[in-house]
Amino acid sequence: MDVQNIYYDGRIKIPYTWYVGETGSRFLIALRDNKEIWGNQCPQCKKVFVPPMKTCGECFVPTGEWLKLADTGTVESFTVVHYENGVAKRPLPVIYGLIKIDGASGSLLHFIGDVKPEKVKIGMRVKAVFAEKRGGTILDISHFAPVKG
Ligand SMILES: [Zn+2]
Repeated sequence: MDVQNIYYDGRIKIPYTWYVGETGSRFLIALRDNKEIWGNQCPQCKKVFVPPMKTCGECFVPTGEWLKLADTGTVESFTVVHYENGVAKRPLPVIYGLIKIDGASGSLLHFIGDVKPEKVKIGMRVKAVFAEKRGGTILDISHFAPVKG
């Protein structure tokens, strides 16, 4: 007797709630309520994390001081996506960028907007554009747009 594999189509919907933690909450509340970007600093290596970290991943010590940072930064890298992927519910093409916020040690993955993809450059100066309606997520920053001038 031949053995065949049998498949059924199904769908699973799993609602869940995810606690972003004390550090993540503080970061997201500042975005939502004050349109401010905060980072925190490792007391040993002095790296400034955005988004903030509870513990420095290199020194394995709790991070310390919180720092209010600028809402500006520099594009370190980017990619342009021309197809719908179900994640970024935005008009195509979608530009993803690694943004090094001024004063931060690393970069933040976010959207770049208000610019044609062919005009985006590594090293370009950008500024956070906050969403009109904010709900305590990283998308309270709608995107980063080129700094005029
Ligand atoms: Zn460190």
